[in-house]
Amino acid sequence: MFESVEEIRIFREIVHRAAKERIEPLAASIDEQGVFNRDVEALCWELGLLTLSLPPEYGGIERYRGTALCCAVEEIARCCAASALLLIIQAVGSFPIVHGARAEIRDKFLSRICNDRSLVGYLVTEPVAGSDVASIKTSARRDGDEYVLSGTKCFATNGGVASLYSVLARTSQEGGHRGLSFFLVERDRPGVSVGRTENKLGQRGSNTTEVILEEVRIPAAHLLGEEGKGFLLAMKDFDMSRPAVAAQALGIAEGAFEVMVRYARERRTFGKPISRHQLIQAIIADSGTLIEAARGLTYRAAGLYDRGERNTKIASMAKCFASDAAMKVTTDAIQVLGGYGYMKDFPLERMFRDAKLTQIFEGTNQIQRLVIAREVLNERGHK
Ligand SMILES: Cc1cc2nc3c(=O)[nH]c(=O)nc-3n(C[C@H](O)[C@H](O)[C@H](O)COP(=O)(O)OP(=O)(O)OC[C@H]3O[C@@H](n4cnc5c(N)ncnc54)[C@H](O)[C@@H]3O)c2cc1C
Repeated sequence: MFESVEEIRIFREIVHRAAKERIEPLAASIDEQGVFNRDVEALCWELGLLTLSLPPEYGGIERYRGTALCCAVEEIARCCAASALLLIIQAVGSFPIVHGARAEIRDKFLSRICNDRSLVGYLVTEPVAGSDVASIKTSARRDGDEYVLSGTKCFATNGGVASLYSVLARTSQEGGHRGLSFFLVERDRPGVSVGRTENKLGQRGSNTTEVILEEVRIPAAHLLGEEGKGFLLAMKDFDMSRPAVAAQALGIAEGAFEVMVRYARERRTFGKPISRHQLIQAIIADSGTLIEAARGLTYRAAGLYDRGERNTKIASMAKCFASDAAMKVTTDAIQVLGGYGYMKDFPLERMFRDAKLTQIFEGTNQIQRLVIAREVLNERGHK
């Protein structure tokens, strides 16, 4: 699968059609109800979108992994951002298993993801540790051939619907982020419980919960990567996931742009379509430019990732720029529709609410700017 750019184009076309026909009609009610949609999940499994980031023997792909994920996320986000988030978190949660698990554990759980259609959650954030990952309190204590995990994770996407979790926990009190390690935890282990489900501003169809770990015993072999190297694994995961969040933001912006342009051609004021007023043309021009620039950064970041080249700076630039662009384009699209843009009869107010999350998760845009500055200064020899 995916030996050429042409095959990626065909893949994008398939996802585009499925999203238009089978997800877009559900998007308003998914948002209204604020409940995870199992039909959309089933469609994503059918299309192979929830195993994209796995190795080929488990339903994934070898080449163009990052690009394919971005294409799928972008096409779905044009129609329903919450549904696109499902793909991102599945890839983010699977990453520590793909890249950190020992051979037999890796085979057992990647087979389970692929054959049993298991969703994987990513449990890093805690009530007092979001941007500041080094403040994580969840502990993992070695006890013979087991680890015992205790702590509370919050804002876990798919926390209530996933059956597997990649959990970042503290294995040593020393060294800040150097004392953190990833573990694979099954949701049905004694001591694992799902806490409150969040009622959110946007991307309301994604499931966001607390996950509580109380003296959860797991085999020592469920350690992912080396003990004390969990933070580094999380950073590598970001190199894959930040282009995908950029693609989600890009998709939201494109969805809003489509509505904006169509409306501008139809709505008439002062005897002509509003698309003939120069101030509206300026909004169309600026929005289109932001989208093209976001697209360039997003697929540059994904391409570097696919070629195994360092992409940390460009991935952060893509995530930061595309999400700021999505916020601007959705806000301006509402403006172009005037009062109608403010109403739920059009999808723009949903897109506007959905866009906001892309500036916050997978590292806030303040954190992206810190990463970009650090990378730029390092490139120029300023430590
Ligand atoms: C809907 C949703 C889904 C999520 N899904 C997941 C998930 O699946 N798994 C998971 O682990 N997490 C998830 N998160 C958590 C998300 O990654 C965090 O919310 C995010 O990293 C920010 O952390 P925080 O909320 O604790 O904010 P804080 O870290 O408390 O930040 C508060 C503000 O301070 C700013 N700030 C913080 N530090 C600095 C600094 N050094 N310099 C400048 N400004 C700074 C931030 O940018 C922000 O504006 C999700 C969040 C949401 C809202």
